[in-house]
Amino acid sequence: MTGHRAKTLLGAGAVVLVVLAGCSGGTDTPTVAASPAASLPPAEVVERALSDIERYWTATYPTISDGKPFQPIQGGYHPYTQSTPPPACGGEEGVYQPNAFYCPVGDFIAWDAEKLIPELQSNFGQLLVAVVMAHEYGHAVQHRLGVTDQPTVVLEQQADCYAGAWIADAKAGHAGSFTGITPAQIDDALAGMLQLRDQPGTSATNPGAHGNAFDRIRAFQDGVENGATKCAGYNSDNLPITEVPFTRDRDAATGGNLPYEEAVDTIVKDAEAYWAKAYPQLTGKPWTPLKVQPFEPGSAPVCADPDAIANGAAFYCPDGDFIAYDDQKLQALYEQLGDNAVGLLLGDLYARAVQHRRGQSTEGSAGQLTVDCLNGSWTNDLLKRGNQPDATTLSPGDLDEAVAALLALGRATKGTGASGFDRIAAYRNGVLNGLSACK
Ligand SMILES: [Zn+2]
Repeated sequence: MTGHRAKTLLGAGAVVLVVLAGCSGGTDTPTVAASPAASLPPAEVVERALSDIERYWTATYPTISDGKPFQPIQGGYHPYTQSTPPPACGGEEGVYQPNAFYCPVGDFIAWDAEKLIPELQSNFGQLLVAVVMAHEYGHAVQHRLGVTDQPTVVLEQQADCYAGAWIADAKAGHAGSFTGITPAQIDDALAGMLQLRDQPGTSATNPGAHGNAFDRIRAFQDGVENGATKCAGYNSDNLPITEVPFTRDRDAATGGNLPYEEAVDTIVKDAEAYWAKAYPQLTGKPWTPLKVQPFEPGSAPVCADPDAIANGAAFYCPDGDFIAYDDQKLQALYEQLGDNAVGLLLGDLYARAVQHRRGQSTEGSAGQLTVDCLNGSWTNDLLKRGNQPDATTLSPGDLDEAVAALLALGRATKGTGASGFDRIAAYRNGVLNGLSACK
């Protein structure tokens, strides 16, 4: 978050040169811990994934190509290591990088079998490995369709969307491998996609840009929910792209993070101001300022029936009508994920207060998803402020921090009723469409 700088939704306008070797892997950005489920060797997971993705495209390609048949990859599949680098791609010599990529000239897919793929599998599970392969195969589909004259960020999101479309097909039981995909496995894969995001501050028009995690997960979910035909229609005019570069030196130096105390103070003031404006729109009633208090570990203020999140580390108290949070745990979240993880958590509590005050539920999957949408509507307001002087605005990376916090606070593995996948979709609905989407 920042004080003065404006951030707006970009419609990626400029057409940039397509960089062929796309898909960088390891970044040193913070990630959410994930549960590994590595029962097969990575090489076998890759092999099964590619074989099933071929099956999927053989069946699906004619539906997006006016009936033309699908031609599988002709140049082969190439695992590589530091001692056996990937094949040359056109005029470019093959050099080792912790990557996976599709080479259009040679029509092959290659991947780092030494580090990237085994690490992704052990950290985030087998499904993420398959998603990476489905993404690369998506680039092969783009070349077969002859639709590569698009900004890189559009092509990357389209490949993510195609990967989601394959997942949906596998989930529907059409796959020989990857049967019985669970919401928890998908949430693990989403957590992995956070690690594969661009570094915060990458411009959407940068030739290597893949999109921030918020946008990439949107594209992936679009594929899961709407299938390959929807993905095939992507272009720079119909994608909401939220990735923006750092435009202030301070942002670039700090990663866009305010100091902790200042972040909490800014977030609480802004949430108050937002709900003072939005609550009357929602209910026709005025908003009463909400008391927000930190507490030391083990000395939470008394509350008869707290509406708690983060295992009780933060809650809204309906009886006393106040918010309280464990200051040390909130600071730990800040240090792990960034200032807008704090924004996501406090925004969640404000949305709970809104639900209680207007007599609606926060419980079960439906209650949680309404809370997430209301929380997102505040982010929508932050994104719409443009160049107003002294406005609190989001900085690059903030939306990804929110997504990371959603996955950290409520994943399918933790049995909250709503999966991380569904919570991110509900939050994004509020972010992209505003308060009226949440009623
Ligand atoms: Zn790619």
